[in-house]
Amino acid sequence: MFYHWVFTAEHRQHHTEGSKAMNPYRTNTAGELRAENAGESVRLAGWVHRRRDHGGLIFIDLRDRWGITQVTFDPERAELFATAEKLRPEWSISIEGEVARRPEGNENPDLPTGEIEIEATKLRVLNESVTPPFEIDREREVDELLRLKYRYLDLRRTRMRENITFRHQVVKHIRDYLDDRGFLEIETPLLTASTPEGARDYLVPARLYPGQFYALPQSPQQFKQLLMVAGFERYFQIARALRDEDQRGDRQPEHTQLDLEMSYTTQDEVLDLIEVLYTEIVEELTNKKLAAKPFPRLTYAEAMDRFGSDKPDLRFGLEIQDISEIARSSEFKVFRGAVESGGSVRGISVGGLGDLSRRETDEITKIATDAGAKGLAFFKVEEDALAGPIAKFFSGEDQDSLLAALAAAPGDYMFFVADRNPVVFESLNRLRLHFRDRLGLADENTLALCWVTDFPLFEWNEDEGRIEPMHHMFTMPQEEDVEKLDSDPLAVIGQLYDLVANGTELASGSIRIHRPDLQQKVFSVVGIDEEEAERRFGAMLNAFRYGAPPHGGIAPGIDRLLMVLRDEPNIREVMAFPKTQAARDEMMNAPGPVSEAQLKELNIALRRAPGSERGSNPAARPSEGNN
Ligand code: ASP
Repeated sequence: MFYHWVFTAEHRQHHTEGSKAMNPYRTNTAGELRAENAGESVRLAGWVHRRRDHGGLIFIDLRDRWGITQVTFDPERAELFATAEKLRPEWSISIEGEVARRPEGNENPDLPTGEIEIEATKLRVLNESVTPPFEIDREREVDELLRLKYRYLDLRRTRMRENITFRHQVVKHIRDYLDDRGFLEIETPLLTASTPEGARDYLVPARLYPGQFYALPQSPQQFKQLLMVAGFERYFQIARALRDEDQRGDRQPEHTQLDLEMSYTTQDEVLDLIEVLYTEIVEELTNKKLAAKPFPRLTYAEAMDRFGSDKPDLRFGLEIQDISEIARSSEFKVFRGAVESGGSVRGISVGGLGDLSRRETDEITKIATDAGAKGLAFFKVEEDALAGPIAKFFSGEDQDSLLAALAAAPGDYMFFVADRNPVVFESLNRLRLHFRDRLGLADENTLALCWVTDFPLFEWNEDEGRIEPMHHMFTMPQEEDVEKLDSDPLAVIGQLYDLVANGTELASGSIRIHRPDLQQKVFSVVGIDEEEAERRFGAMLNAFRYGAPPHGGIAPGIDRLLMVLRDEPNIREVMAFPKTQAARDEMMNAPGPVSEAQLKELNIALRRAPGSERGSNPAARPSEGNN
């Protein structure tokens, strides 16, 4: 027989009150006592944040997750005082005493508990601490490797504690929001087959199947689509995505995304759902201002045209103008040539730069050439003409047209790039961002969220000389473009959307393909034939044969969102246990070698001689046939 404990509210109250009083360490947190608690007997537990001795008294700032409370030790209680004298930072203690109002003039208005202190009657040292490798009670710059090696201490510091707490609040908000709207949170496997998202897979050797591997998911993409075929209609998961990519500031080997999928849905429905969620998160949980509501929606083509980027920072102007028509008839060969060979000439006008020195214009030019441009053309706008090294190639009339096209005013600089379109866009994008930072054009407290839609379904991979999906292979083409899958795949637009904030991509999603024939077609465009498709994506293709509903979704990155909301320079600052930029876990010392016995069990022999590379396996001997 099952016996059910039914906790009524009363039961619960009684239960928690009872165990609270009996807790040997604490009756209260270090963040909650106020003037009205004066006279109460309490117990607190936590760390020695700071110790000060003065006026014959010992003052301890006792810190726990919820705050700091001042505790005083009176020399009259000699034994207690003697123990208090030994306390050092980060010792774990529990104290008992009476809440007292601080003497007048001694209140600390910066501390929520600043009106009171605890007059200690008991002190238990629960655990001493060796001297920490960095100060916990001050927010000083500490070498990041050291912070990561001692992350459990780093996380005791205010900034990190607040970041991790905020992370919880955001995730809780997301869960509640989606639960209210009928979404089910469903877990999907970590050990599975590859779901490509354009990165390298992390692989796990399968002991029971020598020579075979599980792949860790780059995203739950296929599973969430299969959950739609399974009829769950509205799914979400706070999911881990594992991608073996080269590391950058806002990338990690594993990151967390809000993975989400809906059946019988439309692009507008997905966008609205996320837009309301993000508006709530920003407005209810942060002090940031949204630049615009509703979020502007730009097509990919428009974003590129106006900002040279599919992740535009909309907090400031400096919009790009196309002057190809003026360039086509100009005397300046570089401009004319770019247009004649199918590229374009575009530029931006920037005010407030004063007079740029030769060195400064060289530096600015380098930004463009680093982005692949052959050079950067620029003019200074004077009262009655344009000045600069190439001004002489432009007639008065052409100069007027340039001024008008860029709406430039005297004192401005105009910068132009003439090249293939991708180079023009990338160079001007970088220049825009450079001037944003140089001139302080973007307000740090404003969040300019926008949607970028209508991305091409495919892009050309220059290095590998092949077509690949812009997002992933499961995206539905725009209906009117389906025919072009055969004739002109690079011209096909996908039902694809990104959420962007201040120049950072926060989410990508799409309406999906739900018919096997169309899915097969898209596979074949990216060079996956039927046999390979069956082998790699057989479950999806098969599932689509059983009345798969139309569906779509999105996967906002949680770490990046938090990084933007907390003004942190990288996503490591919002993760409890991130890897270093070199993808190492310095605290757990991973990755690390494994024993020869483990390798044998996995039927794995290493190719490389031991010790020839960091992270190689010293346990393996070359004589054992590793080469
Ligand atoms: N699976 C995609 C990603 O991780 C997101 C999506 O299309 O829902 O980027």
